[in-house]
Amino acid sequence: MIESYETHEHDVLIIGAGGAGLRAAIAASEAGASVGVVCKSLLGKAHTVMAEGGMAASLGNVDPADSWKMHFGDTMRGGQMINNWRMVELFAKEAPDRVFELERWGALFDRTDDGRIMQRAFGAHSYRRLAHVGDRTGLELIRTLQDKGVHSDIDVYMECTLTRLILDGERVCGAFGYWREDGRFVLFRARAIIVATGGWGRMYKVTSNSWEGTGDGIAMAYEAGAELRDTEMVQFHPTGMVWPPGVRGLLVTEGVRGEGGILKNSKDERFMLRYDPKKKDLSSRDVVARAIYREVQEGRGSEHGGAYLDISHKPADFVRHKLPSMYEQFIKLADIDITKEPMEVAPTVHYAMGGIQVEAETGASTVPGLFAAGEAAAGLHGANRLGGNSLTDLVVFGRRTGEAAAAYADRLHTHLAIDEHQIQCEKELLLRPFESGGRENAYLLHQELQDVMSTHVGIAREESDMQEGLQKVLDLQERARDIDVQGSRMFNPGWHTARDDLFMLTLAEAVVRAAILRKESRGAHFRIDYPDKDEHLGRVNFIACKTDSGMEIKPQPIPPMPSELAQVIEETNS
Ligand SMILES: Cc1cc2nc3c(=O)[nH]c(=O)nc-3n(C[C@H](O)[C@H](O)[C@H](O)COP(=O)(O)OP(=O)(O)OC[C@H]3O[C@@H](n4cnc5c(N)ncnc54)[C@H](O)[C@@H]3O)c2cc1C
Repeated sequence: MIESYETHEHDVLIIGAGGAGLRAAIAASEAGASVGVVCKSLLGKAHTVMAEGGMAASLGNVDPADSWKMHFGDTMRGGQMINNWRMVELFAKEAPDRVFELERWGALFDRTDDGRIMQRAFGAHSYRRLAHVGDRTGLELIRTLQDKGVHSDIDVYMECTLTRLILDGERVCGAFGYWREDGRFVLFRARAIIVATGGWGRMYKVTSNSWEGTGDGIAMAYEAGAELRDTEMVQFHPTGMVWPPGVRGLLVTEGVRGEGGILKNSKDERFMLRYDPKKKDLSSRDVVARAIYREVQEGRGSEHGGAYLDISHKPADFVRHKLPSMYEQFIKLADIDITKEPMEVAPTVHYAMGGIQVEAETGASTVPGLFAAGEAAAGLHGANRLGGNSLTDLVVFGRRTGEAAAAYADRLHTHLAIDEHQIQCEKELLLRPFESGGRENAYLLHQELQDVMSTHVGIAREESDMQEGLQKVLDLQERARDIDVQGSRMFNPGWHTARDDLFMLTLAEAVVRAAILRKESRGAHFRIDYPDKDEHLGRVNFIACKTDSGMEIKPQPIPPMPSELAQVIEETNS
């Protein structure tokens, strides 16, 4: 018997209800589109809510010399010049307006003594630039966007996983998936679709990402023909928790160092003085993460294989006021009072700089009708994201993409047809684990992938090691065809993991293949066998796309920067 499915229809469908998805939804709705937002978990539970340290914008409230040009220069240098410079320009110019807009919508930022939005220092930002709410900035951002969204005409579909984009010819026209509660199938028809599903940190063993970070939307876009960019660029945040083992990877915000925290090794040396004497503990994340890695490799690591992060020299009240979540996190999870003793920290996989290749102004992907915003989109951060630039990215490009998708949907007069064959293929893929009689376990396969990625494509990379890693990923892809799931589709997380595995395995291949091709060290991508930058490779992005013979990765030249922006880079390079 052919199983039916329910159908919903909108002008614009947004997959993902983090900051990017919600900001896009508000913009698309204000532009007059009927909007549907779908999320895997409950509304308000995305990664965005976990963001701690703040959002970067050159308001100049604390350091009046700050400007969009300085923010532009810092972001380009942080990304080691392979960023999409047009995105960075729009971002740096529009960031202050988006922060003020949040304030108008009710966000309660911390304040300076004279009542303006407070800004804190963060790694590789030349000025104190991060607007923040203690160390709970993401919570305030999501709360504000949700409050605003409630008053817009937006339909929200929670606990629903979408797994495949449906195409009419080359154009996207729908997305298919299932309700997590009972496994019923569902189709969303739409004239324009925005992917705002976040990153893919869960393909690594030690990560700050939650269970939702499995790269679904990016993998779906790839399968639908979209180009992916810079997939080799995986950010290791230098400070994740190390001990006890159950909390390994949980983020320790850069705000700790922004408020004066200092990194030390087991010899009580402030080792960042050696790696970056100028920016020290507030150097860019790639530099600090590699410094900790080196200290551990050379035998100066902390008790459990990391470094010590100390803020106990600051007054206890100040620490509790500025970093309330960190204070609680360490008391509750590690029995450590950070006002009295140091934290133990080590690098943790945090952010995917790579993702869907988009047009700067609109967020349009290379597939007609398909857009992307937030962590799922690529280009803004280049080879390394500066802390605080993601939350701002969400509201700057969330807004732009929402407007562009609504305009696209409005312009589209053709009738879009749903191809039942594509839906049938996805149903078969989803149901295969119940029928395969296979021997593979979805959870164990995920763990194996995490081991492979952590071992072969980690913080320090090398050709033969990565070739071995690639072979293992390809083997895991084969074995994933044999995943067996017991039980029914009701409340079945094993079944959900089976599909997540496929998304992560696709993206893992893109990460390793691009990492092998980038034969240099740049930003987050550190090659033991090519420790220096290569001038030629500094002028290309690596683009992954699906071909009849499998995944192809090719270099794409970066368009030359206009002279006025090149001038800004010069001017701001102090
Ligand atoms: C612990 C932590 C702290 C951070 N701190 C900061 C900070 O201080 N400053 C900063 O700038 N950045 C910070 N970041 C990074 C930043 O929070 C994220 O990059 C950003 O929030 C991503 O937002 P997003 O909207 O792109 O995606 P997310 O917030 O990750 O939302 C993704 C959405 O997509 C949905 N989804 C995913 N897959 C599917 C699917 N298949 N079907 C349906 N829905 C789906 C999810 O349910 C969710 O609603 C931090 C990140 C973490 C993890």
